[in-house]
Amino acid sequence: MSSTVLRLGLWILILVLAAYVLHESMEEQNAELIPMALLGKALTLGGILVVAGIVLRIFEKSAKVVVKNRCAVCRTPIVHGAIYCREHLRSVLHAEDERLHQTKIRGR
Ligand SMILES: [Zn+2]
Repeated sequence: MSSTVLRLGLWILILVLAAYVLHESMEEQNAELIPMALLGKALTLGGILVVAGIVLRIFEKSAKVVVKNRCAVCRTPIVHGAIYCREHLRSVLHAEDERLHQTKIRGR
């Protein structure tokens, strides 16, 4: 997400720069084809996008550090979205399995 915004902002800045160079090298009549007011707006937009992209990138990085998951039992760092580490996931599933078996047997 952040890299997309950043890239878009940089592209706009490059285009504005190219348009500006083109504007400067053009004859006065043709130069009016590229309104400077529009270039100014595009430059502002590009600048905002670049800044937003950088801020988003910093945000994403810090968010990743904060959201880093840990096993609910032993606090080992684990993959995103998981609750337990491999070892404890297995034991928890095993315990769950036994619990279900017991209820089934009890039900009969
Ligand atoms: Zn664990």
